[in-house]
Amino acid sequence: METQQEKELLRGGQFIVKETNCEDVFTPEDFNEEQKMMRDSVIEFNDREIIPHKERFEAKDYALTEEVMGKAGEMGFLGVSVPEEYGGMGMGFVSTMIVCEYISSGTGSFSTAFGAHTGIGTMPITLYGTEEQKQKYVPKLASGEWFGAYALTEPGAGSDANSGKTTATLSEDGKSYKINGQKMWISNAGFCSLFIVFARIENDKNITGFIVEQDPENGITLGEEEKKLGIHASSTRQVFFSDTVVPAENMLAGRGEGFKIAMNALNIGRIKLAAACLDSQRRITTTAIQYANERKQFNTRISDFGAIKLKLAEMATNTYADESASYRAAKNIEDRIAMRHAAGNSHQEAELKGVEEYAIECSILKVAVSEDLQNCADEGIQIFGGMGFSKDTPMEAAWRDARIARIYEGTNEINRMLSVGMLVKKAMKGHVDLLGPAQAVADELMGIPSFDTPDYSELFAEEKEMIAKLKKVFLMVAGSAVQKFGPDLESHQQLLLAASDILIEIYMAESTILRTEKNAKRFGEKEQEIQIAMAKLYLYNAVSIVEKNGKESIISFAEGDEQRMLLMGLKRFVKYANYPDIVDLRRTIAEKVKAENKYCF
Ligand SMILES: Cc1cc2nc3c(=O)[nH]c(=O)nc-3n(C[C@H](O)[C@H](O)[C@H](O)COP(=O)(O)OP(=O)(O)OC[C@H]3O[C@@H](n4cnc5c(N)ncnc54)[C@H](O)[C@@H]3O)c2cc1C
Repeated sequence: METQQEKELLRGGQFIVKETNCEDVFTPEDFNEEQKMMRDSVIEFNDREIIPHKERFEAKDYALTEEVMGKAGEMGFLGVSVPEEYGGMGMGFVSTMIVCEYISSGTGSFSTAFGAHTGIGTMPITLYGTEEQKQKYVPKLASGEWFGAYALTEPGAGSDANSGKTTATLSEDGKSYKINGQKMWISNAGFCSLFIVFARIENDKNITGFIVEQDPENGITLGEEEKKLGIHASSTRQVFFSDTVVPAENMLAGRGEGFKIAMNALNIGRIKLAAACLDSQRRITTTAIQYANERKQFNTRISDFGAIKLKLAEMATNTYADESASYRAAKNIEDRIAMRHAAGNSHQEAELKGVEEYAIECSILKVAVSEDLQNCADEGIQIFGGMGFSKDTPMEAAWRDARIARIYEGTNEINRMLSVGMLVKKAMKGHVDLLGPAQAVADELMGIPSFDTPDYSELFAEEKEMIAKLKKVFLMVAGSAVQKFGPDLESHQQLLLAASDILIEIYMAESTILRTEKNAKRFGEKEQEIQIAMAKLYLYNAVSIVEKNGKESIISFAEGDEQRMLLMGLKRFVKYANYPDIVDLRRTIAEKVKAENKYCF
């Protein structure tokens, strides 16, 4: 038997230059008994404690959010990823994703409170805390006796998170720090017992993290609840610190380590945010299918109209793709953490390095899934027609709640640029060999194309060839851009965004195909007929996005013969030998979900 350590795991970002066997990806169909039990108990909790109270959440019942968070604590859901010695369940990364996914779909308000507490509110302590800090705070946070909040953003420091003006000044006896400053947009601020606060000591280049207990007597005041577009019952306030005294032993990690803590906490937050969007997409899709099956116009169920079928098929397909990619990455993270544990790393080191390794995938997922959720909710409203615009139907709140996911945990623009930036950095460190494959693509462009007719009879033979070609597009565009601009590439943001869209589509499409191939091999192609259609549809859409972004990029930085050569390469790489009948694929997918009256995959 192959041991964890021997098992060759793809490094983060390596998917762009390596092929993956379908047997090596984890899929939602691979959940073990423990994971299924956890999923079912969270679904039951969501159905009992959250979904029936949607109206109260919409009516800004912050106390309800706090009450349900307490109940989630009693069930152990707040401590899934917390090690057992600190009062948690010590479960793996996949289980953490499952809980986050299924607890989040009732309302964005609870989803945000849950994510802010278990992710960025607790993890900085489990990952960077000293033994004393962990013993003192983590059991309270894992049980829900206390709630956590994460105070990084300031009026002048949002995306530029390291530029905060909040200060921490050491007392003369060296025993404490005084914190002064203003934080804004702080989720859970209204009911938390503890803040993770980032502040600057003297003129340090980087900020420092502190654990600050909530105590109004200690110079901590809160602004009014923000009036927001969505997530109405998520408490979001400004927090003011005025000579707030914090014991020196409450510093997290070391002086100046705060930016690192903030970024690593966000890496984990990003993939969990993707998870938090998944079941919402599923519910929105199901609600839309059910409405479309009931609503009649022109004496016809609207689900019988091609225009509505198109929407239902795309909503189901994107949901399926998002599940595929999220759990693929989650298991990669879990396996890498296990490998590091086996190699003797502490829990903290193993978790940190495991997640950091897949920071590119975390950014990709954050962007792709948050945008798919938004589009899904938007089409949901459209399917409901005028009723979709009414507060009396579920689509309106779903659409408003979805909007925040594109903004927090790093805006989607920042995450897009990060994904490509981190990949280039990994290449420079030698962790991912981009140079060799990029040179091979450049050589291929100069050579004579092969006119062989490959055998496409095997399932996904052509689709996998297309994925390989899309990777060549990325290498061609990113490789030429790096060559042209060198370190100045950072300032060519439109180019980075385009490269990122190509990267995102490749990861999402490849993950969808691999999941489906794995399942077709074990359950049979007939059984997976609709999933196969969805994988093909997703890829076709991905190819269009890659083509558009590839073309824009090439035109922007290449001229004359070089431009012509790159555009010819692009044309070759996005060309199918046999185009799928997209209209028929969408029809097939829509007919299935209509017949089942729900998202059924
Ligand atoms: C409801 C809600 C809850 C939140 N919860 C928390 C929380 O719990 N804790 C916390 O610390 N923060 C929280 N935030 C803050 C959130 O993380 C920030 O709003 C987010 O990081 C963006 O910062 P900003 O609002 O200052 O926007 P800005 O940084 O001003 O960005 C504005 C626009 O400019 C773009 N932009 C910025 N910089 C660049 C660049 N270099 N290149 C290209 N484009 C750029 C952005 O993508 C965006 O489109 C929350 C925000 C909201 C709305």
